[in-house]
Amino acid sequence: MTQTIVIAEMNNNAVHPSTAELVSAANTLGGEPTLVVPCTDAGQASGAAGMGAATIIAAKSGAFAHYDASGWAEALDAVVPQGTIITGASPQSKDLAARLAARRNLSVVQDAVKIEGGSITSPVYSGKAMQTVSASGDVVVSVRSNVFAPATGGATDVSVIDTDGNVATSVQEFMARASERLDVAEANIIISGGRGMGSPDNFTHLEAIADTIGAAVGASRAAVDTWEAIPHSMQVGQTGKTVNPNLYIAVGISGAIQHLAGMRSSKYIVAINKDADAPIFQHADYGIVATWEEALPVLHESLKGMMG
Ligand SMILES: Cc1cc2nc3c(=O)[nH]c(=O)nc-3n(C[C@H](O)[C@H](O)[C@H](O)COP(=O)(O)OP(=O)(O)OC[C@H]3O[C@@H](n4cnc5c(N)ncnc54)[C@H](O)[C@@H]3O)c2cc1C
Repeated sequence: MTQTIVIAEMNNNAVHPSTAELVSAANTLGGEPTLVVPCTDAGQASGAAGMGAATIIAAKSGAFAHYDASGWAEALDAVVPQGTIITGASPQSKDLAARLAARRNLSVVQDAVKIEGGSITSPVYSGKAMQTVSASGDVVVSVRSNVFAPATGGATDVSVIDTDGNVATSVQEFMARASERLDVAEANIIISGGRGMGSPDNFTHLEAIADTIGAAVGASRAAVDTWEAIPHSMQVGQTGKTVNPNLYIAVGISGAIQHLAGMRSSKYIVAINKDADAPIFQHADYGIVATWEEALPVLHESLKGMMG
């Protein structure tokens, strides 16, 4: 491989902390990673300092004001050096990864959960199987969050390169998220509720635990479809968000294949379900066969004790 280039994960025009994990992923491929920050103002790239990259480039363009697949890919393609490209695995970054790969005629591996000596492992068939491919040349790889420990140190100086892309569509309006709670896609710990919660009001029990341990609250599709108060932004699964936390607590969730598709790569899975035969227990590291009414108060009390 020639060189590895990391495209910074951006959130509201700021470098997202998960970018340091991408640099760590790039390090496993060898070489000294270059970190490219898509920005409208070079100052936005300052957040990339100390994230482990050997070089930081602020790719500056008005095209980066809002995400547009073709505009971003064109503007980045113009400034990103040749080599293997690493991006995040958010829906936007996977879209960008595919666009960049197409522009450079490279292969793309999406949702990598392991990179070892040129071998890249990622889930396929909605997570029912894992595939490992070996890269013999440059590739584009999107890497899931919480897989690599964040890199530290490295460059602090930023060089600025102006670029431009033809923006085909632009965002006219942002609608604020209904909830200000932590997003499941960004969380290290998630506690999710399913139809077994009985009512959307009972999600307050999950929220209380989430507040104690700094978790995000997720939901199954059955919960989202059944109760208007549970927004789709909370849905985990094939038609919701793909998550990869260190700890996933599934409460009153049966463990349908479409739900598993979004969370089965979590490091530790805890299931609380009153039905000992619920499929979720086949994938759980720890299982509690009980109603949530019985289990959650006990769990909350002991977590409060642990958190001091
Ligand atoms: C194309 C397609 C895409 C889909 N995409 C998704 C997706 O993205 N995400 C997703 O989640 N699903 C998705 N589904 C739906 C999926 O197949 C399941 O229907 C859904 O995941 C079930 O949600 P659930 O586990 O909350 O509900 P249920 O299957 O009804 O399970 C409820 C569970 O709660 C338990 N329970 C009941 N009461 C209690 C109690 N008091 N205490 C403890 N446990 C209790 C029950 O034993 C049961 O196991 C999709 C389906 C299709 C066809």
